[in-house]
Amino acid sequence: QALYNKGLTKSRGGFAERFNRFLANFRTVDEDFFDDLEETLIGSDVGFDMVIRISDELREEVKLKNAKRKEDVSDVIIKKLVDIYEEEGSGEDNQMHFAPTGQPTIIMFVGVNGVGKTTTIGKLASQYQKAGKRVLLAAADTFRAGATKQLQEWGAIAQVPVVAGKDKSDPASVVFEAVKRARDEAYDVLFIDTAGRLQNNFNLMQELEKMKRVVQREIPDAPHEVLLVLDATTGQNAIQQAKLFKDSTDVTGIVLTKMDGTAKGGIVFAIRSEMHLPVKWIGFGEKATDLRVFKPEEFVYGLFK
Ligand code: GDP
Repeated sequence: QALYNKGLTKSRGGFAERFNRFLANFRTVDEDFFDDLEETLIGSDVGFDMVIRISDELREEVKLKNAKRKEDVSDVIIKKLVDIYEEEGSGEDNQMHFAPTGQPTIIMFVGVNGVGKTTTIGKLASQYQKAGKRVLLAAADTFRAGATKQLQEWGAIAQVPVVAGKDKSDPASVVFEAVKRARDEAYDVLFIDTAGRLQNNFNLMQELEKMKRVVQREIPDAPHEVLLVLDATTGQNAIQQAKLFKDSTDVTGIVLTKMDGTAKGGIVFAIRSEMHLPVKWIGFGEKATDLRVFKPEEFVYGLFK
């Protein structure tokens, strides 16, 4: 909780500050109250559909509980946000999927350039390594100059090996080498970094599909996760990217990065209601420790503390 609060200062500042200002002006729960509330939520990037839903359900709840005091109303709002977030999901949620014992877990990271894929892999590699897992990394972004080197730097920090190819080599061949090595040398997890150039969606999606086929040829039930990395500071752009990737690959979850750099933590709700994909991790800084499993309840309470 403390870490959450520290890392999310800006999100909390923005979302909760707006909200607290709104509550400071509290007089009675009337139509103006709901208008102001809707405006506050929209301003935090919660997403229009979600705002209407929260507002409608709050009306019911406030009536039901006969909430009149400021504290009652804010409790109802916090609880409602958590409930709605959880209902939009499919139940099991932010849990990571792992391979059966004796097999390496293969996790692919997808997303456009600059969202934080490589950084997230570095953080996760470091955390899993510390937790006693044997981790292997694959530098399958052979397109962006410097991407391999950046992953190797993270490999050095996390003290885990990196499988890399030559510049502009076929990413699928890097993936092939890495999966083979992960299996033959009994690694616990393999994280695959992929390219994210947006200039040519079609080629990118084809490339991702090809990588997946290569993985599956070696290990039929893999990849066990395809995590889409999104930059929280990009607001509606992040939603557009999510739609694009979700339509072309089997995304299993979201990593939301740069939560330390945004006052719009409400994007978590927009992604949830529009994508129906679980947010599994959130990133809130550039250090190896600045990544946490996303827990809706902790997150919502964190916003208002
Ligand atoms: P990629 O192109 O998707 O692999 O993105 P990178 O991992 O190279 O990250 C792009 C930039 O975002 C780098 O400067 C990272 O240090 C930075 N970054 C990544 N995640 C976070 C985060 O959670 N918070 C902040 N503040 N910066 C981040």
